[in-house]
Amino acid sequence: MADFSLCDTPSKLDAALVELRSATHIALDCEGQNLGQEGGKLSLISVSPISLKKDSPPIFLVDAVALDDRTLAPLFDLLRSNKPIKVVFDGRMDYSELAYRHGAQINGVLDLQLADIRSRTLRGESREGQLKRLSPYLHRGQVGGQPSAYASVHRLNGLESCAREHGVRTTPKLDGPFIHDNWMKRPLRDDSLEYAARDIRLLAGVYACFQEKSYMDECDLLLQSQKYVSLWDAPPRSHDTYKSHPLLPLDILQLPSSREALVECVGCKRRLTTQSFSKTGLRLPSKRRCWVCLAVSVQQHTKQQWDRDDDLDCEYSDEYSGFGDSYGNDSYHDFDRDNYGYDGDW
Ligand SMILES: [Zn+2]
Repeated sequence: MADFSLCDTPSKLDAALVELRSATHIALDCEGQNLGQEGGKLSLISVSPISLKKDSPPIFLVDAVALDDRTLAPLFDLLRSNKPIKVVFDGRMDYSELAYRHGAQINGVLDLQLADIRSRTLRGESREGQLKRLSPYLHRGQVGGQPSAYASVHRLNGLESCAREHGVRTTPKLDGPFIHDNWMKRPLRDDSLEYAARDIRLLAGVYACFQEKSYMDECDLLLQSQKYVSLWDAPPRSHDTYKSHPLLPLDILQLPSSREALVECVGCKRRLTTQSFSKTGLRLPSKRRCWVCLAVSVQQHTKQQWDRDDDLDCEYSDEYSGFGDSYGNDSYHDFDRDNYGYDGDW
């Protein structure tokens, strides 16, 4: 029997809420078309109480097309509340979709994508290992030629590649390409429901693994995650170069204190601590890009060169085959599976 159920009536939602309210932690993931970006649409809100004792807790796939925002209000209240804790993996687009289009800010959020980065230090990953992960997004030669420019630049994992790296087992992936246009069609296809449920199983699996290995300092991670998921104050536009990349934005894992002076980056437009910039960058406000935005510009520049030059080697050209297709968890799952080891443009 399937471990998930579609909640597409008010009474099914009520029954799900009873289970969700009694949990300390719930897994949360949204599906949709261009989810979270400008002009995007929400299809499903997938939620499941996390239980480290029960093997397969129920997964509720809440239909945000069949149920309007008024009917969804009790679920939105649960998301706004600090408890239960919402466990997400790269919750930026989920937050953008729910907060900016549905008025449902997510509070009490724990983002496992950040815990994954932290686990690298805890597992003793060297500086060399950190730089190695940047390739092939960035060319090895570029990183190796100026390693100090990349010292605070971390490559993000997607959910799939994170689970793989940590040896988390899950149900097999669906065969064949997944059609993301199907998210807004009703009735939802069985493979769409299975796809959404599988993401929740992966999320719960990674959470259990990180708990077991003590990779999460929940107190710090809650603060960092809240800042991370609410990084942007409006749904980003598609192809926003400085938002659509697989690098960890700065000043997230080390949150600045309230006394620190902040300066704006001309790339991502965030106000960041002075350590986020090179000395030259600090002197020249018009060219002041943070380390991450500098890395993104280098990657963009190389991509343009590659676009002009057919002779570059094949392994490197694969790097760009899906770049900029879309934001968030739509193109990004296939993107990961096929090419990158990161299931997002983020
Ligand atoms: Zn920047």
